[in-house]
Amino acid sequence: MSPPIAILGAGPSGLALARLLQVAKIPFVVFERDASRASAAAGGSGPLDIHADSGQIALREAGLIEQFRKFARTDASNTIADQYGKIHLHMGGDGEETDRPEIDRRDLQRILLDSIAEDRVHWDCKVERVQKEEDGTMSVHFANGKTQGGLQLVVAADGAWSKARSLITPAKPEYSGIHYLTTSLSNENPYHHVAKGLAGNGNYMAFGNKKMFITMRMGDGSYFVGVGLHLPQNWSSERSDLMENPSALRDWLLSEPFSDWSSTQKDIIRHTEGNFRPWPLYALPTEELESKWQSVPGLTLLGDAAHLTVPFEGEGVNIALTDSLTLSKLIVEHGLENLNEAVEQYEAVMLPRGIDLIKRSQAQGKFLFAEDSPKSMLRQWGLPVE
Ligand SMILES: Cc1cc2nc3c(=O)[nH]c(=O)nc-3n(C[C@H](O)[C@H](O)[C@H](O)COP(=O)(O)OP(=O)(O)OC[C@H]3O[C@@H](n4cnc5c(N)ncnc54)[C@H](O)[C@@H]3O)c2cc1C
Repeated sequence: MSPPIAILGAGPSGLALARLLQVAKIPFVVFERDASRASAAAGGSGPLDIHADSGQIALREAGLIEQFRKFARTDASNTIADQYGKIHLHMGGDGEETDRPEIDRRDLQRILLDSIAEDRVHWDCKVERVQKEEDGTMSVHFANGKTQGGLQLVVAADGAWSKARSLITPAKPEYSGIHYLTTSLSNENPYHHVAKGLAGNGNYMAFGNKKMFITMRMGDGSYFVGVGLHLPQNWSSERSDLMENPSALRDWLLSEPFSDWSSTQKDIIRHTEGNFRPWPLYALPTEELESKWQSVPGLTLLGDAAHLTVPFEGEGVNIALTDSLTLSKLIVEHGLENLNEAVEQYEAVMLPRGIDLIKRSQAQGKFLFAEDSPKSMLRQWGLPVE
């Protein structure tokens, strides 16, 4: 017999929901497109800060807060500078505990995966579409030709390009105009001490002239280095000559968009290693989410699938984990017999919260990427500006 609940996607939101349902002894299955547990747990990208008033609450309810604290950097500092290297704000560090500790995405992923019975996660299951059947049950169709039918509830936690979203809303991700290009700087790198001097145990973020430069410490002591800048939507495929040749990309960054940045910031970019990963940043249009959301009994969306936004508030994963907690509590409260009531109440809370995050993130982006950032940003935060 098929389990009543299928979760699509083994990212933070899908796995957190899976763990919370497992704790409550509610049967479920997860379908993930990644080929194996190893490839999912290796999941790259930078650190995530998990907030005390949202993401950490979900991890605590899931019985995972101690595991989280083993990997989290509770004394991470945050430094905000301008393009000339002048520091405008320094928060935390020096043994001071932050309420937003940093954790590598891959560590968070591993903690969640390790907490779920192995046979509940099905790998290499790329969802192609979700369908409502005449008898009211849901079915999930996979790219490998297989189908899982007989489901009472499908929870799509399959991220930005969710295959289930269009059943509920016509909203499609819209390009923000901004790309992140990210790479790294290893412990063995002769310029490691320069990165350490800037970011220490936390994050160094410099802004100016509508651009951003970040250096963030990872759990192994290396640094995640990135730039944010206005580029055309398909820039990374149109400039494959640069994306496939990291030293040419570095030269371009240094001679064009970052040519007038400080020598220390440029030194870090110059000495990064390996390929750059492009992140064109998208968000869902809030007007469509507000006016064109038609709930479908037997289906709902979680995390980025529901409210994808640009990452400028640093809350996406926190809200995604909070969605999982909200939905799991309502499923437990209503029981498997009343899943549709649970979903209705979940969406009544989740959707306005998600729309609010999209709006706040977009507003924040305007200040981060303003001509006179970081001053514009500090003013917006009500902080003194020199
Ligand atoms: C560059 C960048 C930086 C960010 N920084 C931060 C930050 O500092 N702090 C913060 O809070 N948030 C940050 N975010 C946002 C955060 O990453 C997301 O909000 C969070 O990952 C959402 O989790 P999720 O589980 O909903 O989706 P995802 O993390 O996208 O996970 C979706 C899962 O579904 C799987 N999947 C996708 N399609 C299919 C399919 N067709 N079939 C089956 N499986 C599928 C994927 O492989 C993946 O495992 C950042 C985002 C970006 C792009």
